Amino acid sequence: MFNKKTVKDIDVTNKHVLVRCDFNVPLLDGEITDETRIVGALPTIKYLIENNAKVILCSHMGKPKGEYNKSLSLEPVAKKLTEHLNQEVEFISAAEVINDEVRNFVEKMTSRQIILLENTRFRAEETKNEEIFSKELAALAEVFVNDAFGTAHRAHSSTVGVTEFLETAVSGFLIEKELKFLGETIESPQKPFIAILGGAKVSDKIKVIDNLLGKVDGLIIGGGMAYTFLKAQGYSVGNSLIEEDKVDYAKEMIQKAKDLGVEFLLPIDHRVSKEFKDLPPMITSDANIPDGYMGLDIGDMTIGFYESLLLGAKTVLWNGPMGVFEFENYASGTFEVAKTLANINAVTIIGGGDSAAAVTQLGFSEQMTHISTGGGASLEFLEGKVLPGIEVLNNK
Ligand code: AMP
Repeated sequence: MFNKKTVKDIDVTNKHVLVRCDFNVPLLDGEITDETRIVGALPTIKYLIENNAKVILCSHMGKPKGEYNKSLSLEPVAKKLTEHLNQEVEFISAAEVINDEVRNFVEKMTSRQIILLENTRFRAEETKNEEIFSKELAALAEVFVNDAFGTAHRAHSSTVGVTEFLETAVSGFLIEKELKFLGETIESPQKPFIAILGGAKVSDKIKVIDNLLGKVDGLIIGGGMAYTFLKAQGYSVGNSLIEEDKVDYAKEMIQKAKDLGVEFLLPIDHRVSKEFKDLPPMITSDANIPDGYMGLDIGDMTIGFYESLLLGAKTVLWNGPMGVFEFENYASGTFEVAKTLANINAVTIIGGGDSAAAVTQLGFSEQMTHISTGGGASLEFLEGKVLPGIEVLNNK
């Protein structure tokens, strides 16, 4: 249950409100290539403006390691926000993030004005959650709002430390929405509930598999992590990505699924290549991969096999691509799974990161129930962890 106060539970009129957003968007030559996170932050910002707050936005971008770095300035985000909000979003580029110019501006702000601070990670104290920076941030405002779901798994000055110095700390609408979908999916899914896990490594998803096995009716495995499971079952895997030290764990998980009556689906054929390159694939005739080849995507029989389980699902949670979808020749597994999810009559939740990027890139984002804006944060949430940036917010 989401039991945190939101902006709707407090009075923001004429107050300085510091809003931690996740504006960590991809940039190419200074241009924003994916606005999802900016668009995701708009409902909270609009609500605050409509309710006459003085809005101070902050976020990190990339990993500047505590130093000013022009290529990681949030200036392009301020421009994009100005366009979306149809009003000026003030931006003062300060290497120290908060300086006298910023403080003077903030002090003189009138209600409905907006300022975006510079990249919080230009300050070395940010990622260490050091008090000096937390206090400087807190001194700008009377109220703190966290809406940075993508950074909620990090205890930094602008996500956690700041709440020690601002009594009123509530959630924005994006965090509320993310937890509604991810939380309800995990706690009370409509059945059958199927999880699809893919991506490169088993080790990244171990805790997620463990946590989900007790909740799902079926688990579908694809991507690089499938080969460790296949090896555990005695199949030959050629030169595919393998985590030798996780083979025993894979055996245990397969047994656990059996004991719990959870269907555990592994690929029954593959698109394979001799090299890790975007070359035309060979398709295997069964789950074995010949010597000298590596599996880079699931095969057509597997796509059909997975689809047959997904067609009957009422809730589907997907995290991680089915193959190296960045290569055109090895994108079909991911594409077909995305297409199936787009067309079934079920609640479909896409965990962030690569699967969200794949769904967007393949043009299916409108047809999904929810696409998470958090990669690491949604994974940690799916592991059953409490996210520090959410834990510190005021309870209802
Ligand atoms: P993750 O960040 O763990 O979700 O992994 C995503 C990455 O896994 C993507 O960049 C994919 O290219 C990669 N991936 C998926 N399938 C394979 C595979 N069969 N072999 C190697 N890498 C893969």
